[in-house]
Amino acid sequence: MTTSIRTTCPYCGVGCGITATQDHGSIQFSGDKQHPANFGRLCSKGAAVGDTLSLENRLLYPQIQGRQVDWDQALAAVADGFQQVIAEYGPDAVAFYLSGQLLTEDYYVANKLMKGFIGSANVDTNSRLCMSSSVAGHKRAFGEDVVPGNYEDLEQADLIVLVGSNLAWCHPVLYQRIRAARESNPQLQVVVVDPRRTATCDLADMHLAIKPGSDTALFNGLLNYLHQHDQLDTSYIAAHTNGFDKALASAQSDIPPAARCGVASAVLEQFYAQFAKTEKTVTVYSQGVNQSSYGTDKVNAIINCHLATGRVGKLGSGPFSVTGQPNAMGGREVGGLANTLAAHRDFDAADIDSVGRFWQAERMASTPGLKAVDLFQAVGEGRIKALWIMATNPVVSLPDADSVRAALKRCPLVVVSEVNANTDTAAYADILLPALAWGEKDGTVTNSERRISRQRALLPLPGEARSDWWIVTQVAQRMGFEQAFPYESPDAVFREHAALSGFENDGARAFDISSLANLSPAEYDALEPLQWPVPANQPNGTTRLFGDGFYTTTDRRARFIAIDQRQPVNAPDAEFPLILNTGRIRDQWHTMTRTGKSARLSAHTPEPYAELHPVDAVGIDDGKLIKLKSRWGQVLLRARLNDGQQPGSVFVPMHWSQEYAATGCIDAVVNPVTDPFSGQPESKHTPVCIMPYRPVWYGFVLSREPLNLSNSTYRVSVRGDGYWRYELAGETQPADWGDWARSLSQVSGWQWLDYADHAAGRYRAAAIAQERLQLCAFIAPQPLLPPREWLGGLFGQATLEETERLALLAGRAATQNDAGPIVCSCFQVGLNTLTGAIREQGLVTTKALGETLRAGTNCGSCLPELRGLIAQCQPGQAA
Ligand code: SF4
Repeated sequence: MTTSIRTTCPYCGVGCGITATQDHGSIQFSGDKQHPANFGRLCSKGAAVGDTLSLENRLLYPQIQGRQVDWDQALAAVADGFQQVIAEYGPDAVAFYLSGQLLTEDYYVANKLMKGFIGSANVDTNSRLCMSSSVAGHKRAFGEDVVPGNYEDLEQADLIVLVGSNLAWCHPVLYQRIRAARESNPQLQVVVVDPRRTATCDLADMHLAIKPGSDTALFNGLLNYLHQHDQLDTSYIAAHTNGFDKALASAQSDIPPAARCGVASAVLEQFYAQFAKTEKTVTVYSQGVNQSSYGTDKVNAIINCHLATGRVGKLGSGPFSVTGQPNAMGGREVGGLANTLAAHRDFDAADIDSVGRFWQAERMASTPGLKAVDLFQAVGEGRIKALWIMATNPVVSLPDADSVRAALKRCPLVVVSEVNANTDTAAYADILLPALAWGEKDGTVTNSERRISRQRALLPLPGEARSDWWIVTQVAQRMGFEQAFPYESPDAVFREHAALSGFENDGARAFDISSLANLSPAEYDALEPLQWPVPANQPNGTTRLFGDGFYTTTDRRARFIAIDQRQPVNAPDAEFPLILNTGRIRDQWHTMTRTGKSARLSAHTPEPYAELHPVDAVGIDDGKLIKLKSRWGQVLLRARLNDGQQPGSVFVPMHWSQEYAATGCIDAVVNPVTDPFSGQPESKHTPVCIMPYRPVWYGFVLSREPLNLSNSTYRVSVRGDGYWRYELAGETQPADWGDWARSLSQVSGWQWLDYADHAAGRYRAAAIAQERLQLCAFIAPQPLLPPREWLGGLFGQATLEETERLALLAGRAATQNDAGPIVCSCFQVGLNTLTGAIREQGLVTTKALGETLRAGTNCGSCLPELRGLIAQCQPGQAA
């Protein structure tokens, strides 16, 4: 029998609907055509979600100090451990660190326990690293953390300004929606503001490659331009805002914005004029704006320009913060950040009293808690002695990551709720609690346009894994709070959350979903995606906010914020002359605990890399290894030379953990400086230096079974289709490569084929059993080694031909069918196949490539790269 379940994608803040169709034990995933976020579209990550559902590496049972225990023992140990610390050192000696991967229900219960019943506000979330500057900016300007517009505005706009937002890779379905909108509205102009030429520039009519960190100068300059050219909406400013004169005075500078931004003044004037004359303008911003030591100011510099033109919350116009995580917004609603209370309340006396009465809590936290970076510093200094981490991997994702490892080592009690048994953070847990994975969870999430959607369970609960809301509820009950934590289902938690949003809310807070406070379990189960607010008199939700010019400040006016011209805290110098910018790549998500399991996603970018402008790569060749170092740490990475990178800057992806790359965790290098308002770390501006790394040998191993490789300095593990791939390099050679190869696996009885040229430093080996390739290893003094894609394909064969055995030893493909690095993940179409088809068959449109090779015809995430390849191979032809 075929059944379909509608749920929501676990990855980015676009929040796409996914339909899971089950048929005789197999599940197929497709975009939910009815979901208003995506109308059936998915990107490469969403399309591959089925690859990540296996129980491989799953944590299935609770553990204390590595020993399996039952839930009663584990829950009692957590409750007792926290209570002992609280009794001895007070409530601020404990903390929770949560995640935008949690469902709203999980978040609500954890936040309530800490802020209402333990009596501390030391509960923060990895969303701090992602969008807390937008939260702070919204609160300063609007009085509340509200995204006024929605995705439809992107289709209705005549000008879209994308600031610090590589939408094509980080929010691909929004990129697809904009591309489709432009096909039906050729007037739509797109301006990309980004120091790097990213895949999103594929959409750009204008790319402003501003100097890193000069965003406030750009938008202060725009505010000034609007004033000087009489393009302000003066009646809107007078009727609906405060603080314009001060903001304008701050925006004025003797140094022209073009000089500050490093952009030609004629180009800047063109952008300013376009903004001034286009009523329907949306400015989209994400991590390039938020992840800064003055990210909040950047957000407000953008909002100032929208307020000055009266363009907020109107069809096709407004400032639009796009969040990174699937439920960053849900976390914001329940007060998952240390400086907010639940339901968009703050730490003022009236709100503390109101929430306390609603919860009937006697131990309400009275002051904000520690934000993420400060929280882990407090752990390292011994001020926090019990820490519970849920659904996140802070030893990989926080800046100065090695000090986070040291802090966890020192902390007397570390509890980790996790899906995977072997994350970098799980290694530091005293108590490990098995949580549910995406396909097993049941609850709600909120996307970037305030749309609440259901995540529904598709799979049975494995082992003894349980939902996060249940685990926290059980601990709360064991801490003596049974009455306040009676929950037996996620709908019960949701009803309370919805009721709190309407409690003593006279319209002062936009976040009001009280119309949903009485949903029956069946109604909750069937809940259709809808946008908050959903107050009692608006049960179908609200598409836009503030379009009438009235805000949720005390005087209902928006506030201009005066923005000083500031410089990043850490400027490059002679010792560390380059600026490190970290970010996402197309086919990986966060610290790869899920996407790292997918062979097709891993094929696109198998190794961590540092992208450099050729002028900065003195003595460094493309593809060689480099050491990248800051005052905080160092990594080894593969160099990629790209003239789309701004000279003086280096881009490195943020995804690799030690689980996947022994020396590739870039957050070990990132400075822990934070924004003074939001506490968000400066993830895009760390001074670094680079130098060639010259190992004695390079190599790789492909193996049918996972291996434990420890003798190489450089080691990257990549999931292939039916095999594991290990990229290696080392500073010392083993005494005998043949012995080394045979020691890689414990399995005996294999037939070994070896080739060794000691003088040239080359070694090749293949192990065969039952006519099938089990393992192959290639070592050389240079990184010029046989194509991995060809060798990987041999693992799928039932037998190895004689020519293939010879080719293995020769280190050359037996045929010319090496597809090259994968560009189209959905159909595994490689670079060599594509460039061959473009050059030899004259396929100079993405449509032609799609018709011939299927590339780009499913999720469309590779279309910018396909257009780039066509332009590279046949200049002037891409379409
Ligand atoms: Fe998931 Fe991709 Fe949609 Fe983001 S854009 S929610 S990753 S399918």
